[in-house]
Amino acid sequence: MELTSLSSIKQLSSMFGFDFSKSLGQNFLMDSGVLEKISEAASGADSVLEIGPGFGVLTKVLSRDFKKVVSIEIDKSLIKVLNYTLKDCKNVKIINDDFMKINLKQLLYDEFAGEKISVAANLPYYITTPIIAKLIEGKYNLKNVVVMVQKEVAQRLCAKPGTKEYGAISVLCAFYTKPEIICKVGASKFYPPPKVDSAVLRMQICDKPNVEVSDEKLFFKVVKAAFAQRRKTLLNCLSSGFSKDKMFFENILKNSGIEPSIRGERLGIKEYAKITDEMVKTGII
Ligand code: SAM
Repeated sequence: MELTSLSSIKQLSSMFGFDFSKSLGQNFLMDSGVLEKISEAASGADSVLEIGPGFGVLTKVLSRDFKKVVSIEIDKSLIKVLNYTLKDCKNVKIINDDFMKINLKQLLYDEFAGEKISVAANLPYYITTPIIAKLIEGKYNLKNVVVMVQKEVAQRLCAKPGTKEYGAISVLCAFYTKPEIICKVGASKFYPPPKVDSAVLRMQICDKPNVEVSDEKLFFKVVKAAFAQRRKTLLNCLSSGFSKDKMFFENILKNSGIEPSIRGERLGIKEYAKITDEMVKTGII
């Protein structure tokens, strides 16, 4: 069955009495060219993990291109549909669960014996950032994370310092991955069409962070504090974020070679690593 046509989506919905849930971000993709691009962007690993298979339109393409596909779908009512649409895809395993609640380390070990895999997904937009954070912060053995997300989110994840899209999530992405936008996808390519346009984003997961830093946890605390109040200077953000007097951070920034009046959104991962290392050196934090 051709799953990219509107008529087959409608046919399956009526066959199984399926109602699209807005709150679960159910906007199903109908463009075979985009499906090919997602699968190709995920290549480089033998197997793949999918989040939110829906009716299985992407799962089918992944099943053709990868040795094994494990797909996690939260909506119980979709499982019987998937058992029907994917009955010929013997290398696909469907798990009915909430991706955010899954013990991912255990699942990767059980399903892929710890081998390096890719992740591919047309993500539910209500939960994009937590899913991406879970994938890249967890230090799993991943090759590529390829996700369809809202266009603005993709731009934020790839943003460079000094741009208006740049934020704490861009730093997280630049720290662990090499992000790139593969293609933009208009709202009309989905059923039902979402209110926003989308983009396919690939994050190549690096074997080690893209900058060396003595304390990773502190690094992200510094980044969080620096972006907490965008209109304030870096000095003010850090001293209020860490409840320390300004003198302390004036010295830290001076030793890091960073202007205290600068705003956090102008700094890249190297500068944040320098600040962190200087803080560690003081032995106070
Ligand atoms: N992959 C299909 C496609 O491209 O047509 C469906 C994509 S749709 C945007 C998102 C899918 O994620 C839906 O099937 C939805 O039920 C599922 N989903 C939503 N929240 C989820 C969660 N927390 N864990 C796993 N799946 C989830």
